[in-house]
Amino acid sequence: MILITGATGQFGNAAIQFLLEKGVKANHIKALVRTEEKKEKLRGLGIEIAIGDYDNLGSLVNAFKGIEKMLFISGSDISQRISQHENILSAAKTAGIQYVVYTSFQRKNESETSPLWAIAQSHIHTENLLKSSGLKYSILKNNLYMDFLPSFIGDKVLEIGSIFIPAENGKVAAVLRSEMAEAAAEILSNENHRESIYEFTNSEALSYQTIADVISVNTGKKIHYISPSVEDYKNTLSQFGLLNEAIGIFSSFAIAQAIGELDNTSNDLEKILGRKPTSIREFLKNIYPSESTQ
Ligand code: NAP
Repeated sequence: MILITGATGQFGNAAIQFLLEKGVKANHIKALVRTEEKKEKLRGLGIEIAIGDYDNLGSLVNAFKGIEKMLFISGSDISQRISQHENILSAAKTAGIQYVVYTSFQRKNESETSPLWAIAQSHIHTENLLKSSGLKYSILKNNLYMDFLPSFIGDKVLEIGSIFIPAENGKVAAVLRSEMAEAAAEILSNENHRESIYEFTNSEALSYQTIADVISVNTGKKIHYISPSVEDYKNTLSQFGLLNEAIGIFSSFAIAQAIGELDNTSNDLEKILGRKPTSIREFLKNIYPSESTQ
């Protein structure tokens, strides 16, 4: 039996769909959902559903009974993530789960000086716990979800004619979330894939200058790239009405990209998918098509 945590979320839901597509029987899949009401979202798939909250160790031990493999999807509440993840791994050990696939995050700087420390800290802690747990595991070091790139590029890029982000000449090797979920399902369903660490990146990393050039060519509209100071960026986001928390997240990711934290290309994902992942260039073509195809 394979258990998927975060099953009502986008990564978890996609992983379940891919497991079913790969021929895993519905009655061999169990989804972890937070509350009784959340069950509704997964009804109709024929899979089993268990209730458990990352904050409640007892609920997790109960939900994990009889599970052999687990896709452990990192929690979305960053301030609570360390204790939540400790609960999950403690419950996994108590319940006798044999193999854990954990969705982690790419980074180079593993110290408090990292602009992404708030995010990286709990992933590093969880990875260390997994490594010393005695459980068999695979860690998926996921690059940025490519689905989020338009938010960094800016919603009004075509109207304004520029990308405004302090990412300097840094590159990002973002990947479609659905393709990382597909690879996670492949790892869980195929015994041939059991590496301890996978680097899930795209095959080519692009800078925002190249992204601007690609959008210019696709749309026929010249898009400029401006890399302002971080202070100017924060002030501009504030003028657009963004809340401080969002400004902090966007700025941290921009700085991380500027210093190359997400500039890493590996063929791990290509090997598991059996094809190259959707490139950032293809993605941009779909999101910002030429005027003649609109
Ligand atoms: P998502 O759609 O927000 O899904 C998060 C899932 O975790 C939901 O099913 C949510 O359940 C569940 N969850 C959160 N807290 C929980 C708790 N206390 N107990 C039980 N379940 C809980 O996120 P996603 O897009 O699928 O991404 C999966 C994870 O990847 C995120 O949680 C985050 O850690 C990470 N992430 C990575 C990137 C990247 O660029 N690589 C970007 C964003 C996030 P509910 O439906 O009940 O809320």
